Amino acid sequence: MSSTPASTLLEHFGLTATAAAAGGELGVHSPIDGAGIARLRTHSRDEVVQAVARSREAFLAWRSVPAPQRGELIRLFGEELRADKESLGRLVSIETGKILSEGLGEVQEMIDICDFAVGLSRQLYGLTIASERPAHRMMETWHPLGVVGVISAFNFPAAVWSWNFALAVVCGDPVVWKPSEKTPLTALACQAVFARAAKRFGAAPEGLSQVVIGPRDIGEVLVDDERVALLSATGSTRMGREVGPRVARRFGRCLLELGGNNAVIVTPSADLDLVVRGVAFAAAGTCGQRCTTTRRLIVHASVKDALLARLKKAYAALPIGNPLEPGVLVGPLIDGASFQAMQAALRSAQDEGGKVAGGERLLQDKYPSAFYVRPALVEMPAQTQTVRRETFAPILYVLAYEDFEEALRLHNDVPQGLSSSIFGNDLRETELFLSARGSDCGIANVNIGTSGAEIGGAFGGEKETGGGRESGSDAWKNYMRRATNTINYSRELPLAQGVRFDV
Ligand code: NAD
Repeated sequence: MSSTPASTLLEHFGLTATAAAAGGELGVHSPIDGAGIARLRTHSRDEVVQAVARSREAFLAWRSVPAPQRGELIRLFGEELRADKESLGRLVSIETGKILSEGLGEVQEMIDICDFAVGLSRQLYGLTIASERPAHRMMETWHPLGVVGVISAFNFPAAVWSWNFALAVVCGDPVVWKPSEKTPLTALACQAVFARAAKRFGAAPEGLSQVVIGPRDIGEVLVDDERVALLSATGSTRMGREVGPRVARRFGRCLLELGGNNAVIVTPSADLDLVVRGVAFAAAGTCGQRCTTTRRLIVHASVKDALLARLKKAYAALPIGNPLEPGVLVGPLIDGASFQAMQAALRSAQDEGGKVAGGERLLQDKYPSAFYVRPALVEMPAQTQTVRRETFAPILYVLAYEDFEEALRLHNDVPQGLSSSIFGNDLRETELFLSARGSDCGIANVNIGTSGAEIGGAFGGEKETGGGRESGSDAWKNYMRRATNTINYSRELPLAQGVRFDV
């Protein structure tokens, strides 16, 4: 069923031959029906080493191209993405199982970061600093950093790479990308779109953008190669725990975007209409497979029953099914392992005293090899070990609170620190939530859910989420190295701090 549009799309992106590589070890399946859509040959470790060497060559040329010209290449890439939004968005949906409007939204996010990066290419500002010495000037300059390795997760198979790629390219860096082994076709399609932009640009070095296909050991080559100046890795905390120390050991730079366990606090003054809409999208949307998915609802006891009743009604009415069909709001889980992890989490929540509604498998007759579920609502007596873990599936744990300080304590008492929000109209509570004593996450919102970030802000989180920031604000500084310059335009040589050294 999903194979027809998939094959047409592969043809559209010129991937038919690649996707049918004889003897390809990597089977690619659509979670929509579990059907195989391609068999890809994976790269060898040697081929990744060669890709890094090409990338290094590209760096030596690209770093000298003026930044606004580098921006012109990304402007063209944004144009090509606009032209191919429909096809690429559909491929994202087929490979990840997210609904079409989210597949298209992912491509829109790529276009947005291109626009942002184009503007940035004329704004890679350094500071001018007052020197303590007469007739001296100090300044800082930002230079291209080197080869950037990007390792990405399955759930945002294109956007996360583009956040890194668009900024890296305007900053003067080439990128070697290892996408998730579950979503390699989207990566190859992105390469095909970029190749068109590079052809129009004319002078992009050959190795500026490369993709290497394979499982984690292919990513490990990027992790350990000292020519990779920045390793930007998005995925589970388990992955970050392995990758971070290995990059640190060789004094490489790391940008980690890892798991979240995002909560919404609902206060007595909250507008429940907003809460139901905001939470349904953030908790059940994308079948619970966003790093920013709402996983915990911390509700004031006085509104808990009313809110739960409304959420249960909303959940019961959620159209679940083929994400390419109009009207469907929740697609499938990525695979059977993900379904098993969800069921295991629901069982342990139950053992810990949780009351589970939903979570069962759906549409098994129609799609025996796919994993559709009803998103689960689980009332918990306390913030147990299961609640404190990220399970990458649509499970919303509901906890009651009486006192606002208790809500804040529960909110922050998890190992992760990505996204958070509060619903309420009491200024004292909402401002406290945003203050130094409030949410300890990298993203803190008021009266909107935890998911669906825009590219203008820095994206990322604290604690086990890894501490990295990507996308907007000053995230570009990750992709450059800073030099502090002191210039003496006098005939004297005064030393700083009044030190005397007369020779
Ligand atoms: P995953 O950790 O299983 O895999 C992510 C990527 O890392 C894949 O490309 C995989 O091949 C690679 N990888 C795994 N172990 C590796 C190792 N030891 N060395 C090198 N590469 C390795 O994650 P997933 O299941 O694809 O994605 C879901 C997870 O990603 C969730 O935890 C989610 O919260 C997180 N995520 C975080 C963000 C964010 O911005 N914070 C965004 C998207 C997803």
